[in-house]
Amino acid sequence: MKLFRRLSSALPALVLLSGGAALADDTAADLAAKASASHWGYDFLADLTTDIGPRISGSKAAQDAAAWAADRLKKAGFDEVHLEKFPVTYWARGAEEADIVQPRLQHLAVAALGHSVPTPSGGIEAEVVVFKSFQALRDAPDGSLKGRIAVITQRMVRAQNGEGYGIAVGSRVAGPSEAAKKGAVALVIRSVGTDHHRLPHTGLTLYAKDAPKIPAAAISNPDADLLERMAAKGPVKLRLKLENKSTDSQAVTVVGEIKGREHPEQVVLISGHLDSWELGTGAIDDGAGVAIAAGAAKAIIDQGLHPKRTIRVVMFGAEEIGGGPVDAYEAAHAKEAGNIVIAGESDFGAGRIYNAAVPAGSLGSPFAKQLTAAILPLGVDMLHEGSSHGGADIEGIHEKDGVPLVDFGQDGTHYFDIHHTADDTLDKVDPAELAQNIAVWASFAWLAADSDVDFRALSAPAGSAK
Ligand SMILES: [Zn+2]
Repeated sequence: MKLFRRLSSALPALVLLSGGAALADDTAADLAAKASASHWGYDFLADLTTDIGPRISGSKAAQDAAAWAADRLKKAGFDEVHLEKFPVTYWARGAEEADIVQPRLQHLAVAALGHSVPTPSGGIEAEVVVFKSFQALRDAPDGSLKGRIAVITQRMVRAQNGEGYGIAVGSRVAGPSEAAKKGAVALVIRSVGTDHHRLPHTGLTLYAKDAPKIPAAAISNPDADLLERMAAKGPVKLRLKLENKSTDSQAVTVVGEIKGREHPEQVVLISGHLDSWELGTGAIDDGAGVAIAAGAAKAIIDQGLHPKRTIRVVMFGAEEIGGGPVDAYEAAHAKEAGNIVIAGESDFGAGRIYNAAVPAGSLGSPFAKQLTAAILPLGVDMLHEGSSHGGADIEGIHEKDGVPLVDFGQDGTHYFDIHHTADDTLDKVDPAELAQNIAVWASFAWLAADSDVDFRALSAPAGSAK
């Protein structure tokens, strides 16, 4: 089934390849070869994780990372580099403990969920109620969790494209308020991750306006298994202590541009996010993404290429903490959003790219034919049409301003073993896979920026005005 889909999906790309004699673009081929061989992107990532390390939005480290990255871009030869600052809540992790205290003392590997409220000093001690799915908790009668700690042990399914995440992450994002509505005093979830290690996965939680804010934390997968087994035998009491703090601060987004030679106002936007969770050093999430976007542009600079349109590299400053900050970029750029030709974000580690999605209506364009020819030798053998998800930071400009998206599918089979854990470190990035990503993004950015393709017009329904 899977093999069949791969083959059939690849066919249109192959047809395009053989259907046009003048498709081989030597400039793009040279660019891809040079980008594949360059160490600049990997060095950027290595130095970011070494010289700065963890950089949660609003922290001094995140602000330092922005200044550091801007300096790198200036030295790399970008025409223009600037910082964009906006207010965020800086959430600082404190001491955290989770212990089973009955029937027998056992320590659990725990991490507070990002933006969780702390527990009262001294912690919370209560009997647990275990739910094997988020839906089971939702179905629990109102008031049935009064004075209890709710536990959700729903598992995340491993998939190459990471689709298990969208399903499992509901318990992390919305679980605390659902549990609070049933009367719970705290929520503990199984980590949203596919590993079997004793490392908890953090990540943002969002409180609903109509429920009390209760403390929330994730325990490692093996600890969730333990709690399930123990609860099946009889009453279990848990003690949870979280000492995190929140303060007002500023996030910083870094922007670097290669100015277009003919249409500088038209922008091809490629991006990643510079902020990270602070348990690891933010190598795969998303140091890799900013290294890929910046590395792609750097390869174009190194080739001495001057595209017709502007290439804008954006290193977003607050992806991990959600909606408001995304709106900050959208609000600041709403006026020029019509000039953003296409946007993409690399935010899924450095796993090999194996497919690409371009905006609706554009698959037959000269741009898509050239892109296919450029990235097929890099192992990207499936070109799809109708990209609708290009990354959390560009959803705002896509949904509100209609900016077309490009989306490169990466092999994320192992991404969620590491994601948001202390294990998100440089050694998890394969330099060759990172280089393949950079070469694909460089090919895309060059071809989109040096063409006249109008993705909005191509996606307009037949018969409508251009
Ligand atoms: Zn990310």
